[in-house]
Amino acid sequence: MKKIAVLGSTGSIGTQSLDVAARKNYEVQAIAAGRNIKLLEEQIRRFAPRYCGVFEEDAAKDLALRVADTNTKILAGEEGICAIPHLIDAETVINSIVGRAGLRPTVSILEAGKKLALANKESLVCAGDLVMGMAREKNLPILPVDSEHSAIFQCLQAGRKEEVSRILLTASGGPFFGKKREELEGMRAKDALAHPTWSMGAKITVDSSTLMNKGFEVMEAMHLFGVPLSKIEVVVHRERIVHSMVEFADHSVIAQLATPDMRDCIQYALTYPEREASPVKPLDFAAIGRLTFAAPDRETFPLLDLAGSCMERGGVAGAVLNGANEGAVALFLKDKIKFLQISELVARVVEEFEQISDPTLQDICTAGQEAERRVLALAE
Ligand code: NDP
Repeated sequence: MKKIAVLGSTGSIGTQSLDVAARKNYEVQAIAAGRNIKLLEEQIRRFAPRYCGVFEEDAAKDLALRVADTNTKILAGEEGICAIPHLIDAETVINSIVGRAGLRPTVSILEAGKKLALANKESLVCAGDLVMGMAREKNLPILPVDSEHSAIFQCLQAGRKEEVSRILLTASGGPFFGKKREELEGMRAKDALAHPTWSMGAKITVDSSTLMNKGFEVMEAMHLFGVPLSKIEVVVHRERIVHSMVEFADHSVIAQLATPDMRDCIQYALTYPEREASPVKPLDFAAIGRLTFAAPDRETFPLLDLAGSCMERGGVAGAVLNGANEGAVALFLKDKIKFLQISELVARVVEEFEQISDPTLQDICTAGQEAERRVLALAE
């Protein structure tokens, strides 16, 4: 029986990962989340993991009392969550924690010598060089869970790395596709949260509406697949059937298509290199009729290009971009800033931030925190 652990188990990806695990009868050795102890208790009673990490210390204490009749040990705080990969013998750990809170757990998964099934794109946005360096050094695979990266990973199997001429990263365009700056002026959190295709956590849904998510995915692809920015093209594809494509030297394009359902990507990260039966509906091409493609509107959604420029700057620029964005998105979700202020605040903090080249993990974490603090201060 395959053994896994799911960090971020109460979220959109986490619950779908447990769904995949239940269907495949995998042993779930550990789970972890931020604070949702009601759902963690249900998951403990259903999956009987050996360990459960809870970021918020008081919530961890409450949960320990609630599940005192089970054999699950509760571990508290970031330290407790980071201890998990070292305590279990599962071969793969899924990291689906949201935001830069996922970075230290990513590092601890690799330190413990486990395969990393990565949904937490912020780990690579903030510390891609460091994380990829660790994976290389330890000869550990990072298996992408993000649908676009899972697609690229699958398409790349059709040729050699030197033969790749372009990666075509598809984007839904988000809920504000086609709108101009004037129309975005009055947009609020509730408008951004109405994503056309996927039901996802609040942060990534807002990131999809600003195209920050696509910018993060460009950064993630550069790190995961070792390709330069010049070889990555973002293509808006509203139907979300083509999950991404790779063009090779002969200009042949290999695409990965599937019904949009994250359980397919999660399952492939866990069964790779095998492909196994899935509950995801097969595509009905006659019903789909046609697929459309368009260029993204980089002027209206400037965070897409800012991500590329942060990648070129290197150092702590990714961590600063991410920290500033986390701060701005949190303010937007509380209706404290308007939609267009997200990109304005993020760009300002990124431009003014002091660069640190060759940063340590601590430098990266500190820069992220400071960038978030500066956004909150600017918005006051
Ligand atoms: P959700 O907001 O739905 O879930 C986030 C998870 O992270 C929850 O389990 C939450 O716990 C946990 N969490 C939050 N803060 C902490 C913390 N400090 N320490 C430990 N755990 C914490 O997010 P999603 O599932 O939508 O996204 C998760 C990640 O996957 C993100 O990086 C996102 O970009 C990426 N991703 C998501 C996709 C999707 O379809 N949703 C697609 C591709 C990538 P609690 O519930 O207790 O707060």
